[in-house]
Amino acid sequence: MPAFVLNSTITSFIDGAFVAARPDSHRIAVINPSTEETVAQLCEADVTEVDRAVQAARRSFEAGSWHRLPVEQRIGVLRRVCALIERDADELCRLESIDLGIPCSQARGMVTARVIRNFGFYADHLTQAAERAVRQDGLYQRYVHRDPVGVCALISPWNAPLMLATSKIAPALAFGNSCVIKTSEYTPLALARFMTLLAEAGVPPGVVNLVNGRGHVTGASLVAHPDVALVSFTGGGAAGRQIAATAAAGLKKCDLELGGKSASIVSDSADLEAAVDGTLLGIFANSGQMCFAGSRILVQRKVADDFLDRFVSRASAIRVGDPFEAATEMGPLAYAAHLERVLSYCKPVAGDGVTVLAGGRRTGAQRGYFMEPTVLLADSADARVCQEEIFGPVATVLRYDTFDEAIAIANHSRYGLAGYLWSNRLDESMAAGQRMRTGSLMVNSPMVFDLRMPFGGMRESGVGREGIESLRNFYSEEKAIAIAMQPVPLPLRLGVR
Ligand code: NAD
Repeated sequence: MPAFVLNSTITSFIDGAFVAARPDSHRIAVINPSTEETVAQLCEADVTEVDRAVQAARRSFEAGSWHRLPVEQRIGVLRRVCALIERDADELCRLESIDLGIPCSQARGMVTARVIRNFGFYADHLTQAAERAVRQDGLYQRYVHRDPVGVCALISPWNAPLMLATSKIAPALAFGNSCVIKTSEYTPLALARFMTLLAEAGVPPGVVNLVNGRGHVTGASLVAHPDVALVSFTGGGAAGRQIAATAAAGLKKCDLELGGKSASIVSDSADLEAAVDGTLLGIFANSGQMCFAGSRILVQRKVADDFLDRFVSRASAIRVGDPFEAATEMGPLAYAAHLERVLSYCKPVAGDGVTVLAGGRRTGAQRGYFMEPTVLLADSADARVCQEEIFGPVATVLRYDTFDEAIAIANHSRYGLAGYLWSNRLDESMAAGQRMRTGSLMVNSPMVFDLRMPFGGMRESGVGREGIESLRNFYSEEKAIAIAMQPVPLPLRLGVR
C-alpha cells in the first residue's frame, strides 16, 4: 500500500500511487493553525502533472475498470471504504484537526461519521437503483440507460476538507465515473491519507486521482483540461465565476456550491433557550467556517434584550483553545491570512452603526490563529458585516419588529444558501417556507443534512443542487433507447423506384 507519512512531502496521487516529488515543483508549506508549525510540504501539481492525472482517469474510464464492474462488486468496494474509514477514524480526525484546527473530539461526529455516510448512502442507493422502461405504443420497447459522464474534475475548499471532498468523490464513483480531485492547498493532509484507503478498499488505479496546489495553477489547469467532462466546485464566488466561465467555454457540465450569509430569525414565540443553543451552534461550530453558518441573527425586538443577554454570555464562555484538549469547544481559524481578514470585520468604524457586544480580538497566549467568539450588533441590514460573508466566529445581530420585516431583511442579501427560523407559530413556519429565498430552511433546528434532500443555493450561493436526484442527473447521462418489437411503419421510404 502506498505510504502516507506526516511531516513528509505530499505529492499527487495518480494511478493508485503517490508520484515522486519533482525537484523543480513549487512547494507550499502546510501549517498547523494551532501551533503555526509546518507539518508537511505540498508539491504543487503543474499543468503537466494535472495532465498525467487526467490521462490516468481517462484510461481507467475507457478501460471500464470501474464502471463495467458488476454493481454488486462496486457496492462491495463502497462498503469497504466505509469500514476502512471506521477503522482509521482516529487518525483521520487527528489529521483534520492538525490541518484545520477543528476540535478532535468534534471531528468524530462532524467529520468521519458524515464521510462514512457519504459512501454508505450511495452503496445503499445502488442496491435499489433502477431505470424506467416504457412500452405504451406496442411498437417499441423503450427504456432509459444511464451512462457515467467520464472524467470529473472535483474541486473542494478547506473549511471541511474530508467531508466536502468525499461528498463529491462518493457520487462520482457511485455513478461510474473516474475523477481527479483537487482539495485546498491549505488543508491537504486527511484527503491524502484517505486516497490510500480508497486503494485498499479496491478502487482500481486511475479511477480516483488527487492533485494538489493553488487554485489558479492546479485548479485552473484541471478545469480547462479538454478531457474533463464535468466540473463540481465548492468554494467562493470569485473562483466560482472563473470556473463557470472556463467550463462554459469547454461545454462541460458544471455545479457550483458557493458562499452564504444565512439568516437565523428568532421570533418572540420561540423557545428562547433552544434558540440560543441553536444559533450559537449555527455560527460558532467549526469557528464559523461553514457555508451554511447562521451568521445574521434577526431577533424580534420584544425578546431581543433577553436573547442577547443569554447569547452574549454563552458566546463569551465558549472554550477556545487546543483542538486536542477534550474540553475545547472552538479551535483556531484555518490560516493566518484568513484570521486577519475575519478580524478586519471586527473593528467597526465610527458611523457604521455596528457595536461589538463580545469578542473581536485575537486570543491565545502563545501561538496559533485563535480568536474570540464575536457578537456584533448592527443598526442596519445594509451594514457591511450584514452583507459580506465573514466565514469566521462572528455573529451579526439585527433587531426587527414584524415578521414581514424579518423576511425582508433575510432576503436582503446577494446570497441565498440556508435560512433558519426559531418560532413556535405554525403560520410563521409556513410563511417562511414560502417566502425565504434560500436553498434550504430549517425550523427550530440548526443545519441538518440528508443526502435524500437537495442542498445548494440561490443567487450568488450557487448553481445546482447536491442531493440524490440532482446528483444522479449530474454525474450520469440519461440515454433513451428504443427497440422496434415488430417491423415499424416508416413515414416514407426513400430511393424506391
Ligand atoms: P476558494 O474559492 O478560494 O477555493 C476553493 C477551492 O477552489 C480551493 O481548492 C482552491 O484552490 C480552488 N480554486 C481557487 N481558484 C480556482 C480557479 N481559478 N480554478 C480552479 N480552482 C480554483 O474558497 P475557499 O476559501 O477555499 O472556501 C471558502 C468558500 O467556500 C466560502 O465562500 C464558503 O462559503 C464556500 N463553501 C461553500 C459550500 C457550499 O456547499 N455551498 C461549502 C463549503 C464552503
